[in-house]
Amino acid sequence: MSDALDLPGWRHVYSGKVRDLYEPDGTHPLGDVVLVVASDRISAYDHVLTSVIPDKGVVLTQLSLWWFEQLADVVPNHVVSTDVPAAVAGRAMICRRLDMYPVECVVRGYLTGSGLAEYRASGEVTGIALPAGLVDGSRLPEPIFTPATKAEVGEHDENVPFAAVVEKLGEQAATTLRDLTLAVYARAEAVARERGIILADTKLEFGVDPATGAVVLGDEVLTPDSSRFWPADAWEPGRAQPSFDKQFVRDWLTSPASGWDRAGDQAPPALPAAVVERTRARYLEAYERLTGAPLAV
Ligand code: ATP
Ligand code: MG
Repeated sequence: MSDALDLPGWRHVYSGKVRDLYEPDGTHPLGDVVLVVASDRISAYDHVLTSVIPDKGVVLTQLSLWWFEQLADVVPNHVVSTDVPAAVAGRAMICRRLDMYPVECVVRGYLTGSGLAEYRASGEVTGIALPAGLVDGSRLPEPIFTPATKAEVGEHDENVPFAAVVEKLGEQAATTLRDLTLAVYARAEAVARERGIILADTKLEFGVDPATGAVVLGDEVLTPDSSRFWPADAWEPGRAQPSFDKQFVRDWLTSPASGWDRAGDQAPPALPAAVVERTRARYLEAYERLTGAPLAV
């Protein structure tokens, strides 16, 4: 799944499910940086699919850059420059290299997904007790920080209580991550709401800048890959909400048409062209609805 490219001045060091990381080949004029390249790969149900979604990497990168700007007075971010090699123009950014915290900083304003599953089993999400009677898509009384530990590629992230983050990182770092995550959500939720979009939940990744010790927002932010965006006018608790993400992919993969058994150990099949095209359109629409301008691709 690694799509390592031959980029002059950069050496491939890591491929995640969606992004590829490169280090400078020698010293870089901008200092201790990494090149973060968003590919067109798409993952679903913890599998990286064989099909790619054209322009998805550009959407993820441009949307992240837009959000980093919206959030600039809330939290510092890792972006240093978008002057990247031509082969990855538009879908890469040069970033300060961070020592990433091994915690997925999840915040939920609405109940669905793994949060809903936990709530149904225990009435709590990561140890936070919630009122009775909530259903799929319910708005929570207030946004909650529900961290998860980062899993290896192919594994599920595991929701953990805040106390587990304290144990891992110490009280001070854990509290900082929680407070920043909630602050980012508050700002982003308000921005999205103005545009008729509900930000149901999102996942952030922070790291420490080794040069300054500052806690910095890294990775991608507030994209359809890391967040659930719902059209506000269609919100109706008690059922799955329509959303700006991989919904068509998930729906098709779990439909009889795909012939795929999610519970088995076979990799998912290639997506039909129509599913690829609708998913591509959905990502572009999310960009346009949020930023107010179409993305030139
Ligand atoms: P997923 O996010 O789908 O669970 P993943 O995190 O393994 O999977 P990607 O998101 O595709 O994969 O890869 C991006 C990687 O780059 C992550 O491991 C992330 O922590 C890391 N990363 C992001 N920003 C920085 C940074 N500024 N410095 C160092 N590492 C970073
Ligand atoms: Mg990631």
